[in-house]
Amino acid sequence: MAIVGAGPVGLAVAIDLALRGVATVVLDDNDRLPAGSRAICWAKRTLEIFDRLGVAGPMVDRGVTWKVGRLFHGARQVCAFDLLPEAGHRMPAFINLPQHEVERLLVARCADFPGLIDLRWCHRVVGVTPEDAGVAARVEAPDGAYDLVADYLIACDGARSPVRGLLGLAFAGQAFEERFLIADVEMKADFPAERWFWFEPPFHGGQSALLHKQPDDIYRIDLQLGPDADPAEEMRPERIIPRVRAMVGDRPFRLVWTSVYTFQCRRLARFRHGRVIFAGDSAHVVSPFGARGGNGGIQDADNLAWKLALVVQGRAPAALLDSYDEERGRGADENILNSARATTFMTPKSAMEHLFRQAVLDLAVDHAFARRLVNSGRLSLPCSLAGLSPQTPAEPGAPGLVAPGTPCPDAPLDDGFLLDHLGQGFTLLAVGDTVVPAETGLPLLRLPAGGVVAQRYGAGALYLIRPDQHVAARFPAGADAAAIRRAHRRALGETAYD
Ligand SMILES: Cc1cc2nc3c(=O)[nH]c(=O)nc-3n(C[C@H](O)[C@H](O)[C@H](O)COP(=O)(O)OP(=O)(O)OC[C@H]3O[C@@H](n4cnc5c(N)ncnc54)[C@H](O)[C@@H]3O)c2cc1C
Repeated sequence: MAIVGAGPVGLAVAIDLALRGVATVVLDDNDRLPAGSRAICWAKRTLEIFDRLGVAGPMVDRGVTWKVGRLFHGARQVCAFDLLPEAGHRMPAFINLPQHEVERLLVARCADFPGLIDLRWCHRVVGVTPEDAGVAARVEAPDGAYDLVADYLIACDGARSPVRGLLGLAFAGQAFEERFLIADVEMKADFPAERWFWFEPPFHGGQSALLHKQPDDIYRIDLQLGPDADPAEEMRPERIIPRVRAMVGDRPFRLVWTSVYTFQCRRLARFRHGRVIFAGDSAHVVSPFGARGGNGGIQDADNLAWKLALVVQGRAPAALLDSYDEERGRGADENILNSARATTFMTPKSAMEHLFRQAVLDLAVDHAFARRLVNSGRLSLPCSLAGLSPQTPAEPGAPGLVAPGTPCPDAPLDDGFLLDHLGQGFTLLAVGDTVVPAETGLPLLRLPAGGVVAQRYGAGALYLIRPDQHVAARFPAGADAAAIRRAHRRALGETAYD
């Protein structure tokens, strides 16, 4: 199997496949990991996936944990939100950790699979030829060009995806004209580990601003510049330093990394093209507000790897890969919708849109209904896969609380946390003494019908959990082995629901 791109998504796919015994060659045209920080916010679901891949521990230890966001209008706080008000989860709502550090930890994890992950830096893919039984890739490398033939090629080659271009695929969507300055600034300050977002702040008239804390006294600052800003001019330190000083006050600081960017919301119509499959930014892009790009890409990896492994090992039909397209297509649509809505709210185009925003921000101070309309980027959450073809809908009255298509909520157990006990394959999860038929061939995880598990899953429930920790089915009381096998076959893409 070939993976093009050793960004977070390509590396996550490679590790996940290696955990399932599938060998990959990972090709990246860079000679090293990039230094600029790009993504910083990694969401709870991503951290749960990283934990399954064996890399979350050092990320959480090193990252800045946060869960509270505050929204300001001018100098006044409009509202605050808590992204994880309940206890009983191993992973925090978010950590802030620069993307290059996340990638470095993923690369280090790849080294744990010497016979399975062949990571090749400075290997640029310049040609892709889909064939009936595989994909041929032309690769340029320091020691000369060569051809690589793989059964599948996973294109994780980023927003500009050369593989997408080589196949002539359209990347349809919307480009936004608004320009933003992004600056990572090192300074001693006592801003809390929270997300602070300002509409029309006193220090940056008429625009918006965002502040996030990272490790080592580094802060991420985003400043809206407007559509007419000249990027070359705005990148000059003489322009940046006064803007930052107006925001952080008269204290010493150092610019670590700066960039001026615009953003786009685009996606491929289909993520699977035979034996070439797109994941991450090559498949879809969104604005950074909401932290949905990298987090969405890691969910692609989570969804794709177990399916690919089962298909190449001959344990599921190739049709299973179409469910990747279906499920992650929904995720991409949801992320694009959220991103586009946030952009409209953040950058009102007409006097009427501006008036609406003023009214919402004024009302939001005292009224909950208006708070729901304030949008500075809804932060990344996993999308529900409910109703899509691999899931077996729960029959009315089936005991339990979690709907098929939902990622399993974590819960504390006497010996760790629930997600730690799910393993890498399909699992039956029973809560309490519900009867579980023998001879399903599936491992059983039986949990006590009390405490947080029962509150989150419901006493007496029986679930089929997929390898990516999503509920595939929730069975009625007394379900027999045939019903469980049917749901399992459906989750494997072997049968359609009838
Ligand atoms: C300013 C900014 C802030 C952001 N903040 C966040 C955030 O807080 N949270 C979040 O979730 N997301 C954020 N994002 C989005 C996030 O950075 C991307 O979604 C993420 O990098 C996508 O990962 P990827 O692995 O798909 O692609 P990339 O990280 O782009 O990796 C693609 C890799 O493919 C390689 N490659 C390209 N072409 C070839 C070729 N021909 N041959 C071989 N290799 C090739 C590249 O060298 C690169 O290493 C942000 C983005 C920006 C720009």
